[in-house]
Amino acid sequence: MPSIAHTPYPINIAIGESRGRDLYELTVKSLQNDLIIAEACGTVGIVVHFGHFKGSDALQGYKNIIQCLNETLSGWQGSAKILLENQAGTPGSMGITLDELVNIRRLSDYPEKIGFCLDTCHAYASGVWDPRTTDVLVERGRELGYWTDLAAVHLNDSKYPLGSGKDRHERIGQGYIGEEAFQVLLSYPEFQGKALVLETDAGEDGTHRGDIAKVKGWPIV
Ligand SMILES: [Zn+2]
Repeated sequence: MPSIAHTPYPINIAIGESRGRDLYELTVKSLQNDLIIAEACGTVGIVVHFGHFKGSDALQGYKNIIQCLNETLSGWQGSAKILLENQAGTPGSMGITLDELVNIRRLSDYPEKIGFCLDTCHAYASGVWDPRTTDVLVERGRELGYWTDLAAVHLNDSKYPLGSGKDRHERIGQGYIGEEAFQVLLSYPEFQGKALVLETDAGEDGTHRGDIAKVKGWPIV
């Protein structure tokens, strides 16, 4: 069974040195440590959120991310990758589009050490994935070459409606996305063989057994 790791939530790879050199260096060291742990466990990679930058120069945030990825990966020889995750921000905010993810990877010094994790709740909340036009998302990903580097999917339903910008996961089929939309998305060949991970509340029995069985019961998975 493939597995993926997740970096600690306080990590912000867009921060650069805006809050001091020490915090930036700590960020790089933390990511390097995560890669070592992931490698020892044989996992595909470590999921890292795209990052937030609160400054007047939006471009600086993207530059910071690339610098952080370059420094983290410069001496890395393992097979575990950094897996960039799309964010749930409102339309127009940073790190929500496949375009940004692909371009950050492309502009970095070590694209071969970087892959992607698609969070379905975030894609829906940000308005990037409208289930009425799933083909638009899939086609954009094809044009960009995003799917080739997709390593994993955070399979989460959403507690809030399309475009809400809210990062609130719901159990599969119990949120605004719904089972049918997931089945349509996962039926595209781009999703075959990818690691699917639930980041949702446990069921009544305290486990995810029921939700996993539900997903496995879908005709396309
Ligand atoms: Zn996620």
